Amino acid sequence: MKTVEVAVIGGGPAGMAAAAEAARRGASVALVEESATFGGKVLKTADCGLPLSPIEGYEKRTADRLLTDLHRHADRITLIPRHQVWHIQDGRVLELSPVGGAPVETRQVRCRRFIIATGAMERIRPFPGWTLPGVFPLGGLNSFVKHGILPGKRFVIAGSGPLLPVLAHTLIRAGGRIAALVQTTTHREMLRHVFPLMAGMDAFKLFQGIYYFGRMIRNRVPIYNGAAVSRVDGEERAESVRVIRLDRNGDPIPGTETEIDADAVAVGFGLIPCTDLTRLCGCREIYDELSGYWRTLRNSRMESSVDGVFVAGDGAAVKGYSAAALEGTLAGGAAALQLGYGGEDDSESAAVQKRLKKATRLGRALDQLSAPSSGLLHLISDETVICRCEEVRLKDLRQAADAGARDIHDLKRRTRTGMGQCQGRFCGQVINELLWNLLNRQAEDFPLRDVFTPRIPVKPCTLQDLLGNSK
Ligand SMILES: Cc1cc2nc3c(=O)[nH]c(=O)nc-3n(C[C@H](O)[C@H](O)[C@H](O)COP(=O)(O)OP(=O)(O)OC[C@H]3O[C@@H](n4cnc5c(N)ncnc54)[C@H](O)[C@@H]3O)c2cc1C
Repeated sequence: MKTVEVAVIGGGPAGMAAAAEAARRGASVALVEESATFGGKVLKTADCGLPLSPIEGYEKRTADRLLTDLHRHADRITLIPRHQVWHIQDGRVLELSPVGGAPVETRQVRCRRFIIATGAMERIRPFPGWTLPGVFPLGGLNSFVKHGILPGKRFVIAGSGPLLPVLAHTLIRAGGRIAALVQTTTHREMLRHVFPLMAGMDAFKLFQGIYYFGRMIRNRVPIYNGAAVSRVDGEERAESVRVIRLDRNGDPIPGTETEIDADAVAVGFGLIPCTDLTRLCGCREIYDELSGYWRTLRNSRMESSVDGVFVAGDGAAVKGYSAAALEGTLAGGAAALQLGYGGEDDSESAAVQKRLKKATRLGRALDQLSAPSSGLLHLISDETVICRCEEVRLKDLRQAADAGARDIHDLKRRTRTGMGQCQGRFCGQVINELLWNLLNRQAEDFPLRDVFTPRIPVKPCTLQDLLGNSK
């Protein structure tokens, strides 16, 4: 067992900044990251063999800065890559398992304070054909391309939010042909978000937006606004995509479908916080109607409702990497301060809070642009798989609901939905919305915004991990 004062879970921008700040103030720190490299979803090193674009150059410099800060305090920070946290015992002992055959570094980390910085994951919206080979989540396809793999020839990119132009840019650079970019957002919705977007915009973000859209225009990418992918067809894998127009409420308009040939389709509706560990610790959450997900309640120093448990970055609410790193700095500083390190430094933390406020404005506006309308649920057919781990289809959920399933927990017991490898992380939220919107359950019958109960292990691990405390 490793014993430190502050443990940080997740080596993205939030976790790296948190670890560096806690160590800078004098605390001993362990930083646990399941990947082999640090940097998180967007800043971790990837190599597709192409020279860096100006934006990737900026991101690389940001990642290098965060790494330099970590290494500056190397004597106080233990880096534990390729290990995932699957349980937190008694609020102070993290249970670890090695990932992908990595040698065991340690199986437990005991700490006095810990910071959860586990980031966000992609939000799913099932539709007919979404489980066919050749259909990817946006971030998943982005990762493939960044590692030099182009898994198709003609691509359709669909969904909502800022990740669409990011992926289009990556694909164009790698030589992919984009048959269509289909976004649910209408011009009217864009206009509604203009002021919050401009209020949080800095020169780089403005440049980033212009650069991405400029690239799409130069490459003549056909853009469909106020539209969605209604189905993907193909024998063995994706061969064609149908695109349907949406009305001003986001509901599909029957009879407006267009067919597009494509052998690879990337679909995404923004990100939602990974809350398994915060829920396991009993941190209080609220449902954010505008963003369409649960987020963890925190004070201005990123401490959750549970004393000594801090939550920083996208794992609490999705705001982008600049805000994540600032939140990490605040959390790391506050955790160290609680342990008696470093004096109150009001002017320093006030400056960070000010920058965070601005980054939050932009991040939240982009995040809210990504939230899908409930009308998209009407694209799901009875045969559509909802829980892909256990292959539960809409018709199975409908039958269970008709037979009297009271809530999502009851549905889970009756259909096995949410019992597979992902433990309901991906399907959990959509199932509750389905119950409401498609299966006609009423508020008095069951809670509107329910979630599956967190269960350990929160990440898949081996029996040896569950039993063994060899190190
Ligand atoms: C394709 C894509 C493009 C993006 N482009 C931009 C952009 O242009 N600008 C922008 O601001 N943001 C962008 N983002 C969002 C950005 O990636 C996040 O806002 C940012 O990375 C959040 O930082 P974080 O530290 O909170 O979380 P993450 O970067 O997600 O890091 C969390 C880390 O925790 C690790 N982890 C999770 N659970 C465990 C566990 N149980 N045990 C151990 N480790 C764990 C993960 O492996 C991960 O490395 C993009 C995201 C994607 C997916």
